Amino acid sequence: MFENKNKLIYGGGLLLLGILSGSLFLGSCQSSSEMGLDRLEDLNNLVPVVIIGSGPAGLAAGVYTARAGLHTIVVEGSKPGGLLTETSYVENWPGEKQILGRDLMAKFKKQNQELGVQFLADTVTSVDLSSWPYQVQTADGVELQALSLIVATGATPRSLGLPDEQKYWGAGVSACAVCDAPFFKGKKVVVVGGGDSALEQVLQLAPHVAEVTLLVRKDRLRASKSMQDKVAQVLNAQIKFNSKISEIIGNGQKVTAIKVQTGKLEQEQPIDGIFLAVGHDPATQLFQKQLKMLPGGYLELAVGSQQTSCKGVFAAGEVADHVYRQAGVAAGEGIRAGLDAVRFLQDLGFNAEAIKRSQRNFFEVADETDYKLATLSSVDEFEKLILHSKQPVVLDFYTDYCASCLHMLPYYTAIAAKMDDKMKFFKVNADDADDLVRKLGVLRVPTILIYDQGVQKERVQDVLSKPEMTELFGKYVQ
Ligand code: NDP
Repeated sequence: MFENKNKLIYGGGLLLLGILSGSLFLGSCQSSSEMGLDRLEDLNNLVPVVIIGSGPAGLAAGVYTARAGLHTIVVEGSKPGGLLTETSYVENWPGEKQILGRDLMAKFKKQNQELGVQFLADTVTSVDLSSWPYQVQTADGVELQALSLIVATGATPRSLGLPDEQKYWGAGVSACAVCDAPFFKGKKVVVVGGGDSALEQVLQLAPHVAEVTLLVRKDRLRASKSMQDKVAQVLNAQIKFNSKISEIIGNGQKVTAIKVQTGKLEQEQPIDGIFLAVGHDPATQLFQKQLKMLPGGYLELAVGSQQTSCKGVFAAGEVADHVYRQAGVAAGEGIRAGLDAVRFLQDLGFNAEAIKRSQRNFFEVADETDYKLATLSSVDEFEKLILHSKQPVVLDFYTDYCASCLHMLPYYTAIAAKMDDKMKFFKVNADDADDLVRKLGVLRVPTILIYDQGVQKERVQDVLSKPEMTELFGKYVQ
C-alpha cells in the first residue's frame, strides 16, 4: 500500500516536473535505419541543411556546411542576426577589440553568402520531426524538406508578468534599448535587471534620456565588473537596489508611471519608459513534444556532440546552453553542429553522386524585388501626401539598427510592388524624421500606420510576417 502510494507520487512528480519544465517529451523521430536516399528525386523543396536562426550559432554552422559543399538555407527568423544586433559594442569577441554587434553579424552574413549559403527572410512556424526528411513550414507558406536541421533559435527576452505589461508593450515598455532609445529623448526611464544586458541597456539609453534608473531586485549586480565600471562613469544613471516594479500605470495610450517597491515601501514614480532585461528563455516552442528538453526548456544534447534527441537534428547556442550564454560559445557550438551535420549526411551516403542526382529538387531562394519604396520624412510631406490621398496609405517606420524592421522591409517592399496600384506605400526612417515621429506619437519601431481618407485606421507595432501584412493591407483595397 505504502509502496504503491510512493510510486504513484514519484510518477506524478516526474510528470509534473516534465510539464512545469516544458519538457514533456511525447514525440518519436525516425530512426536512422529508416532514413534512405533512394527517393530524393521525388521530393520538392529539398534542402540538405536547414539552419533555423541567424545569430552567431546559426551562421557559424553555415560556414562549415557550405564549405563542405552542402546546399544550406538559413531561415533568418524575426530578428535577423539574432540578439547581438540589439547590443551596441561587443568587446569580448576574440580578435576584435571592439565591434558593433550588428557589424559583426553583417560580416557573418556576408561570409555565409559568399560561400553560397542562401538566406530566407522568413520565420519558421512549425517543424515536423516524425518523418524524414524533416518538414519545416514557414510563415510565408514555404515547406522545406530538410535532410538535416540545425536549431539555432537562441533565446527570447523574459517579461515580468505584471498586469498591463503587454497592454503597454511598445507604448513605453520595451526590451530593446538600442531599438527604442531615440524615442525617449530627454525623458525619464527605468531599466529592470542586474545582469550584463541590463547594464548594457543603461549604457545605450544614457546618451538619449534625461535620467535612467536601474532597478535591481537584490542587493547586488550579477553583471561583469567591466560593465559595472562603465555604468559607474555615467552621470545620468543611478542604481536602486532591493527594488522592483509592482505596478505599471498608463493613460490608456502609453506608460505614465510605475509603482516601485523597495523593501516594505511602495512609491509611485512618474516615468516614460520601462526597459526590461530580466534574462532570456530558450526559444524551443517549435520543438515541444518533439525533442527532449532539460528543465528550463533548453534542448538536451547527446554527450560529446550537438545532436538532439532526433537523428540529424542538431542544436547550438542559447537554445541549448544554459551555462555560458556567450556569443563566442554559441559560434563554437555552431561550428560543432555544422560539422555534426556534415558527418551525419556523409554517413547516410549523401555524397557527390547523390547531390548531383537530387540537385534539381533543391529549394532555391528567389531574388528579392528591386522595387523602390517611396520615402517620407517631414510633417509637410505627410500633410500633402497622406492626409489628402484618395487612396489608402501605409507608413512603415523603421531604423537601420532595428533588426525586426530590416526583416520586415523586404516583405513590405514585395507587397508594395504588387499592390501599389490600389494603395500607397511609404517607408519612414524614424531617425531622420523627428518631427513626424513626435506628431504621430510613434514610440517604437517597427510601427505600421494605415490612413484612409486622411484618417488613421491602424497602428501596428508587432513584427508581422508577409501573410499577416498582406491580410492587414488587403482590408483596405477592394
Ligand atoms: P542574466 O540571467 O545574466 O540576468 C538577468 C537579471 O535579471 C538578473 O540580475 C536577475 O536577477 C534579474 N531578474 C530576473 N527576473 C527578474 C524579475 N522578475 N524582476 C527583476 N529582476 C529580475 O541575463 P542577461 O540577459 O543579462 O545575460 C544573459 C547572458 O548574456 C549572460 O551570460 C551575460 O553575461 C551575457 N551577456 C553578455 C554581454 C556582454 O558581454 N557584453 C551583454 C549582454 C549579455 P537575479 O540576479 O536576482 O537573479
